[in-house]
Amino acid sequence: MAEEQHSKAQEFEYKAEMKQLLHLIIHSLYTHPEVFLRELISNASDALNKVRFMQVTDAQVHQPDAELGISIDIDEKNHNLSIEDSGIGMTRDDLIGRIGTVASSGTLEFLSATKGGEKKMDGSELIGQFGVGFYSVFMVTDEVTIETRHADPDAKAWRWTSKGEGTYTIEEIDRKERGTRIFFKLKEEAKELASEYRIKDIIKKYSNFVDFPIHVGKDKVNSVAALWQRKKEDLKKEELDEFYKFVAADFREPLDHLHLHIEGRVNFKALIFIPGEAPMGYFDPREEKSLHLYVNRVFIQDDCKDLVPEYLRFVKGVVDTEDLPLNVSREVTQSSPVTAKMREIITNRVLGLLEDWAKSDIDRYNDFFRKFGNYLKLGITTEFASKDRIVDLLRFETSKLEAGKVTSLKDYVANMGEEQKEIYYITGEGRDVVEKHPNLEYFRKNAVEVLFLTDPVDLFTVTSLPEYDGKKMVSIEKADIDLGSTQTEGDEAEALKGKEAKDILTRIKEILGDRVEDVIESKRLVDSVATLVVGDQGMDAQMERMMKMMDKNFSGAKKILEVNLKHPLVKNLAAINERDHESPVLKDSVEQIYDGALLVEDNLQNPMDFVRRAMEFMEKATRG
Ligand code: ADP
Ligand code: MG
Repeated sequence: MAEEQHSKAQEFEYKAEMKQLLHLIIHSLYTHPEVFLRELISNASDALNKVRFMQVTDAQVHQPDAELGISIDIDEKNHNLSIEDSGIGMTRDDLIGRIGTVASSGTLEFLSATKGGEKKMDGSELIGQFGVGFYSVFMVTDEVTIETRHADPDAKAWRWTSKGEGTYTIEEIDRKERGTRIFFKLKEEAKELASEYRIKDIIKKYSNFVDFPIHVGKDKVNSVAALWQRKKEDLKKEELDEFYKFVAADFREPLDHLHLHIEGRVNFKALIFIPGEAPMGYFDPREEKSLHLYVNRVFIQDDCKDLVPEYLRFVKGVVDTEDLPLNVSREVTQSSPVTAKMREIITNRVLGLLEDWAKSDIDRYNDFFRKFGNYLKLGITTEFASKDRIVDLLRFETSKLEAGKVTSLKDYVANMGEEQKEIYYITGEGRDVVEKHPNLEYFRKNAVEVLFLTDPVDLFTVTSLPEYDGKKMVSIEKADIDLGSTQTEGDEAEALKGKEAKDILTRIKEILGDRVEDVIESKRLVDSVATLVVGDQGMDAQMERMMKMMDKNFSGAKKILEVNLKHPLVKNLAAINERDHESPVLKDSVEQIYDGALLVEDNLQNPMDFVRRAMEFMEKATRG
C-alpha cells in the first residue's frame, strides 16, 4: 500500500464551495498580497508551538534536538520562495482534512458578495474576514507544494501539490526532517516580492514578535518576542517601546510599564503598559484589545477580558502563565481561579503604580488622569473591592484652583476650614459655565472650595460617591445647603427686612404662580439677583438635563427661586411693590429675573419673551 502511494501521486477533488473560493482567490487583484507571508509564518509558528508542547508533555518526537525555527529562502532570479519550519508537521489526514478544506462559514456569503471578482480587494480583508489563511498564498502564486513530516516518530513524509483550481495531489516522499516546507514560484504580478530586502521588511512589519527565530537566508530577521520572560535588567527602553507599539497597535510611546514575575499561589509573567494616549474613540483599534494571554509562551487569546476589570481595560500587554492548560477555552479562563488570582494581582499592581505616580510623580499622574480619568470614574461605579483606592485616585478642578490644576478629595478635605462640614460641588457642562454660576458667588466670597464636576460621567461619580471621609458630598444647587457659621457679615449691603421683604417675596411668588415651588430669601448670592435651587429631594440642573435627554416626558421637580434681598434691583422692586402692587414694570421684571435664572442653567425653553422684554426695557431706558 505504502509502496503504491510512493510511486504514484493520488489525486483529490476539492469540494464545490472550495473550488469557487479558490477560483476567486486566484483571479482577483489585491492591494496587499504580501500578507500571505504573515499567514504562512503564523501557521509555522503554530506548528512550532505545538511541537514544543508535545515535547513538554513528554511525548516522543522525531528529532527532539532540532532547533525550533522558521527559515525562508528566496531565489531572486527565478522568483521562487520557500518557507520551512521544524514544527509539528502534518499527517496525510491533516493534509486532507485541514489543508484541503476551508472551515470558514462566511465563505459562501463572501462569494456572493464579491461575485464577478473584478474589483480590487484587500488581501488582509480576504484573510481577516473569511479565514482563508493558508490559501492566501494563491494571491501570489499559481501552484503550491507542501512537503511535510509529522513529529510523531512513526510518521511518514508527504508531498501535497495544488494549482488551486479543482484538485490537489498527495504522494509519499522521503523526507528526514520533522516539520513542513512550503514552496512555490511567484506569479508575474507578485514577482516584486522575490527580494530578500522586501521579504525582511514584510516580516518586520507583520511578524516581528513571533516567538521563534525567522531566518531569511542566513540572517535572523525578527526580534524574538518573549520579552516578558527576560530579566528586568536585560530589557532596553527601545525594545519595550517597540514591543508596546506592536501589542497595542499604537504608534506612540507608552507612559510606563509594569514587568511582573509572580511566583506563589499563582505563577505568571507579564508586561503591562499604560498607553501614552487614550483611545481616539470607538474605531480606535487599541480599544479592542487589552491583555493577551499566553500559556508557557504559547499564544492563547488576544484579548483576555478576564485578566483586568473593565475600568482598567486601557492597559495593554501580555500575561503568560504556567498554571492554565494549553488548550484552555474562553469559558475556562473566565471561570478559572487562576485567572481570578491573576486579575487580583494585576489590578493591585496597576493601582499601585498609579498611586506611586500620584505621590511622587504628580505631573505624570495628572497627565495620566486627564487622559484616563474617565475609566477610573467608571471604576467607582462598578467596583467594590478597590473602590476606596480608586476614589483616592480621582482628581477634580475646583473654584480655588486655576484652570487645569486639580485636587484629590483627600487634599480637599485637608484644606477645609474648621467650620466646613460638607464637601461642595457644582455640576455643569464645562469650567467656563460653572465658574460663572450665581450659586458659586457665596462660596467664592467666603473662600469655600467647590469641586467642579464638569465631565458627563461625573453624574455617575456623584451618585456612587455620596460621601467621602465621613463628609457628605453636597451640590451647591441644593436649597438646604448648610452654610453654617462660615457666613461673613459686616461689609455687605443691608438686606431688606421685615414687612417690605416679606411683601416682595410674596408678590414674586404670586406672579410666578405654580412655576416655582417657593420663593425665599437667598443667603448665598452676592452679585446676582436670583437663582434657582432644588429641594433636598430634587436633582441638580445637570442631572435633570440628563434625565430629560433619556426621557422626553421627564419633568423635573419644581425649583425654589432664591432672591438676593441685598441687591439694589430687588430693593427698587420692593419699593414699587409698596406703592403699586399691580405695576406692569414689577411684573415684567419678575418674569425677566425668572427667565434669566432659567437661562443661566440652560433651561430656558422659550427665549422669545425674554428677548422681547429686554428690548422693551432698553427702549425705555434709552428714551431721550
Ligand atoms: P488556521 O491557521 O486558521 O487553522 P490555515 O488555513 O492558515 O487556517 O491553516 C489550516 C490548517 O493547516 C492549520 O490549522 C494547520 O492544521 C495546518 N497547517 C498549515 N500550515 C501548517 C504548518 N506549517 N505546519 C503544520 N500544520 C500546518
Ligand atoms: Mg493560519
